[in-house]
Amino acid sequence: MTDFTMEKHADGVAIITWDTIGKSMNVMNQQGFVDLEALIDDALGDDAVKGVILTSGKDGSFAGGMDLNIIAKMKESAGDMPAQGLMDGLMATHRMLRKIERGGMDDKNKGGKPIACCLPGTALGIGFEIPLACHRIFAADNPKAKIGLPEIMVGIFPGMGGTTRLVRMMGAMAASPFLLEGKLSDPKKAKSAGLVHEVVPVDELIDAARAWVLSGPSIVKPWDEKGYKMPGGAPYHPAGFMTFVGASAMVNGKTQGAFPAAKALLSAVYEGALVPFDTALKIEARWFTNVLMNPSSAAMIRSLFINKEALEKGANRPDVPDQRVKKVGVMGAGMMGAGITLVSAMAGMDVVLIDQKQEAADRGKSYTADYMDKGIKRGKATPDTKEAALARITATTDYSALQGCDLIIEAVFEDPKVKADVTKEVLKHVGKDCIFATNTSTLPISDLAKASDKPEQFIGIHFFSPVEKMMLVEIIKGQKTGPVAVAKALDYVRQIRKTPIVVNDARFFYCNRCIIPYINEGMRMVAEGVAPALIDNAARQLGFPVGPLQLVDETSIDLGAKIARATKAAMGDDYPDAAVDEVIFWMEGEGRLGRKSKAGFYDYDDKGKRQGYWNGLADKYPRTETQPDLYEVQHRLMFAQVLEAVRALEEGVLEDIREGDVGAILAWGFAPWSGGPFSWLDIIGTPYAAERCDQLAEAFGPRFATPDLLREMGDKGQSFYTRFAIQADDAA
Ligand code: NAD
Repeated sequence: MTDFTMEKHADGVAIITWDTIGKSMNVMNQQGFVDLEALIDDALGDDAVKGVILTSGKDGSFAGGMDLNIIAKMKESAGDMPAQGLMDGLMATHRMLRKIERGGMDDKNKGGKPIACCLPGTALGIGFEIPLACHRIFAADNPKAKIGLPEIMVGIFPGMGGTTRLVRMMGAMAASPFLLEGKLSDPKKAKSAGLVHEVVPVDELIDAARAWVLSGPSIVKPWDEKGYKMPGGAPYHPAGFMTFVGASAMVNGKTQGAFPAAKALLSAVYEGALVPFDTALKIEARWFTNVLMNPSSAAMIRSLFINKEALEKGANRPDVPDQRVKKVGVMGAGMMGAGITLVSAMAGMDVVLIDQKQEAADRGKSYTADYMDKGIKRGKATPDTKEAALARITATTDYSALQGCDLIIEAVFEDPKVKADVTKEVLKHVGKDCIFATNTSTLPISDLAKASDKPEQFIGIHFFSPVEKMMLVEIIKGQKTGPVAVAKALDYVRQIRKTPIVVNDARFFYCNRCIIPYINEGMRMVAEGVAPALIDNAARQLGFPVGPLQLVDETSIDLGAKIARATKAAMGDDYPDAAVDEVIFWMEGEGRLGRKSKAGFYDYDDKGKRQGYWNGLADKYPRTETQPDLYEVQHRLMFAQVLEAVRALEEGVLEDIREGDVGAILAWGFAPWSGGPFSWLDIIGTPYAAERCDQLAEAFGPRFATPDLLREMGDKGQSFYTRFAIQADDAA
């Protein structure tokens, strides 16, 4: 059995069909390359074959990408020289794709057979790099299809010819969104961008390709013709020069130099543009090897691709029957309730949205209408999809409408009494199997569950704001939460197409527990006289989307002060953050509540646009004459979060390091290049991490004290992904 089969037709057209056995979407594996090459050799060597069509046996897609085991196998193929193994493997792939591209032509571009590629739908990664090597790409008019090269999103870049070919096809400037941002397009947009040649109805796909193959077309790629000039100009051309200067500045501005793949991609493009095509492919392979040998790429692939997908597929789902949600009740139509309503209705569920007053409930529903209106303007929704979504939402004050709900998500005020009253009232109106979830961000789930007579059916489903944008949902098990409630929450998260992590109940659960020390460490440094710009820039250069001071301005200073007061009241003498409170309470007292009051650590203009840091800060906390080293600031910010993650694991709040890593990146943008807190500790090595914590604890206090688990692992030289290997293996 093979994934590729060929039928030779009487009219001289050979159709190669790709149909990965046992998968719903084609995925390239090592044998696939061998089998495809053998069929291409056969077709090119058979005089009866005039041309070839490469297509997919799957409905609605061409291919989703590559089995990442190929990379592991390449690394192993040259014994103890993994880079050599990679380089050899990549060059073999280039030779195969080049064979398709040359179509059997001789050195003078004579002879040869046309090879067309038909995309019934989605074509991603290698699933688009192969079509790029063909002579003409026909895409089915399938608006759901996604076409492009998303590799950069998981810390690599298109390294099987996609980078070199796309830049040669459209020029560096035009190719940059597709390469540097992993932009995906539907077929029509792909055609107008020049990624595909033709868009035709799906049932005419093969006929259109066949007619083209039999029309005797020219198949020489522009870069194989004499006098080829790169669109937009090569680097030594004045226009091209400007492109590369601009691109380099843009990449560094966006990534702050923290993402190795983006830099390597740019180098491959620049250096490749200076040389002939085949040498450019070799350069691309070298840079790709460089990226694949970087531990950051392996960590990013593991977290953002393998483990994220495993969690989405229910890696930690209890073994209970399907719990998909049909009708959900959302309590509270404020910021969170409105967002939860939107994503649930868009996923096809019926939603009952309840608030105290009808106007409030209606306002919550209008959030969906506004969102859909924006979608219509951008061509992502239609008046029909808008009406369908709105028709699913009942906005009311009447609890009896909750009848028939199989899940309730409560998002009322963050007040235990209000939440308890709502819980009790809801339970009078729903059936005995209904699962009750709270979206609290700070209150213990086990305490809130006391308002229910069925605590095994009570759970936390913690969304992040804005709900429709944030991809992570944190599911929290209370002490008595049962497996059906966990499965229900996981199935719901899958329906709304987000990524779940499942954690146990503890103060601030997992995500907020790690974010708060990050913000606090930033504010502590302000009190010590560290320049605010040094603090925020140090974070951005680590790859965080926003520095801690900017983050607290965004989430609001009064919210921070409220959380600080509540935590202090709950912890009593154990409360560790008095130095931080001094700053945050003072800011609150000054009325500087963050962006919403147009005054926080930053100044803002009338429109709320961030200006410079507020001068009053330096008056109150004068800058020390000697500022700390950048790495010291970065280590304080990193370890403040990472140690919380380790403690959460030690205490059993986290049960799976994959969730710790994936959750950190998706919830608060934890340095994605690192793969997450545990992957970062593995990259720097646990022995060094433990030693560094000792130094930080001595210099800055016991909050950096080395956790026992880290100490023990450091002594043994263990990494997290080997010690907790069962979980990591499960993911593969
Ligand atoms: P919000 O103030 O915007 O909305 C709360 C809504 O609940 C209001 O519309 C209010 O009228 C309604 N409400 C209050 N009492 C009610 C009752 N008895 N019956 C029905 N409706 C009632 O608050 P929010 O920001 O949407 O937060 C809601 C919950 O989500 C809180 O528990 C909060 O901690 C949590 N949360 C908030 C965020 C965030 O970023 N805002 C993030 C995660 C979780």
